[in-house]
Amino acid sequence: MTTPTLDTANLNSSVLQYFESKGNIVFKKKVQELIEAYLHNDIINAELSLEELIPKFGFTTIPQNGHALGTFIEELEEQLLPHSINTGSPYFIGHMTSLLPSFIRPLSELLTTLNQNIVKVETAKIATLYEKQALAMMHQEIFGLSEDYYKQYISQTNTCLGMVCSGGTLANVAAMQCARNNSLQGSVDIEQYGFSEALFKSGFTRSVIICSQLGHYSLSKSLGLLGMGRKNLISIKTNDRQQVDLIELKAELLRCKAENIHVTAIVGIAGATECGSFDPLEDMADLAEEFGTHFHVDAAWGGAVLFSGTHRHLLKGIERADSVTIDGHKQLYLPMGIGMVLFKTPDTAKSITTQADYIIRKNSYDLGRVSIEGSRPANILYLQAAFKLLGKDGYRELVDNSISTASRMAEVIEKSDDFELLTRPQSNIFLYRYIPTAYRQLKFLDRDANEEISNFNIQLQEKQKMAGLFFVSRTLFKPLDQPLGSISALRVVLANPLTKLEHCLKVLEDQRTIAKSCSIEYKNI
Ligand SMILES: *Cc1c(COP(=O)(O)O)cnc(C)c1O
Repeated sequence: MTTPTLDTANLNSSVLQYFESKGNIVFKKKVQELIEAYLHNDIINAELSLEELIPKFGFTTIPQNGHALGTFIEELEEQLLPHSINTGSPYFIGHMTSLLPSFIRPLSELLTTLNQNIVKVETAKIATLYEKQALAMMHQEIFGLSEDYYKQYISQTNTCLGMVCSGGTLANVAAMQCARNNSLQGSVDIEQYGFSEALFKSGFTRSVIICSQLGHYSLSKSLGLLGMGRKNLISIKTNDRQQVDLIELKAELLRCKAENIHVTAIVGIAGATECGSFDPLEDMADLAEEFGTHFHVDAAWGGAVLFSGTHRHLLKGIERADSVTIDGHKQLYLPMGIGMVLFKTPDTAKSITTQADYIIRKNSYDLGRVSIEGSRPANILYLQAAFKLLGKDGYRELVDNSISTASRMAEVIEKSDDFELLTRPQSNIFLYRYIPTAYRQLKFLDRDANEEISNFNIQLQEKQKMAGLFFVSRTLFKPLDQPLGSISALRVVLANPLTKLEHCLKVLEDQRTIAKSCSIEYKNI
């Protein structure tokens, strides 16, 4: 960069310094140091609770003059880093967020330097092709069309095999928007006139989307957002393997037919958020075909099982879906902000395309034509990097490894006499709970006993979380045995490639120690 010219003469040098190309060397070096320190920190959750941090954030006036850089660095060092949750710890086995591959960090600096905006070719030339190509790669993994087909696709401007969006939520919204717009064909243009008009014109009083009770809450959000009504999400109960009950599903479809209720979509779950179960997609595809409805598969979590050698069968039938959601920022180990929805046929998304003369031109390669979002980062380069550096084999190892660790940890739990396995892992998520001594010998745990045990497990999870070294999450589990009501369960999500069985066993050991220090353990009943 040359010295400031007349054009920048009005800028204070303390502002200008942040725009000059060399950047601030001290800051760069310091951030690098902070990153290293963070990566070597064992603490997941620092001592201060959120409530204790709140007073630090009560001052809400934007600084008049920029602070000195040193002050800001201090804040990062003393406040941001220690109080961030260490999601990369091998002992953090309770959520879908975990360690990222190291190449992501320098790549993210490159990407923000390039600052491409995927909304249109004029702000993202080659990144547009990277995105189109990566979507086609994912499409090929799911739907397996011919190489010739994909070759032609890359040069087409009026077709769409998928889109990238901020996450699984928006991917599900986009899929539901397509399902809605493509249903009730021939009544009215739903995007223009609204869904109620289309329903009315086609003689239906109601339209629903059907999913198992384990459907992600983004489905209900989608229905609200799309003006279809959250109450029109029909939940089907699950079987003893936490999969949609096919008999109930068929009965519901028949009931809808008999009562003149329109079905916009059936949604299959591939990797339920709560317990990692996979719906029988093939059977669901049969039903969707029989009843002529859109079939969506929410594989936000489980999509990566496509790369598995031994477990790919869990996704059998996914190739018959009309649309599929996959999250890059879950089991593809990419940073937040990479959701994807893939469409079986290139016309599915036609009904949601938009044009705007100044920005999104018809028959252009502009990816903004189909996406719900406008300006968007070129995050797809992370996926491209991972495909190139890890390859399918790399993903296969990662997925198979976490599933195997989960099943070994579950086995240990099942054999123990103080823990109870609540769901057998189909993949790498499962539920269990601690059974306090007093309840272990009982043949039958009634509702009251279950409530006591639930309260105990809630305390146990809280205590472990606050101690800050180990983490599993917690959810409500609804056993088939209805009289028991919902029970509080501990939830394990295995993703971090550095988590070994021994880490998992330490988490359990720590829970035993905490349990022994809780009074309920010795309570007489
Ligand atoms: C995580 C998840 C979502 C939502 O994805 P976000 O990226 O959090 O928006 C949707 N469905 C399932 C099954 C998920 O696991």
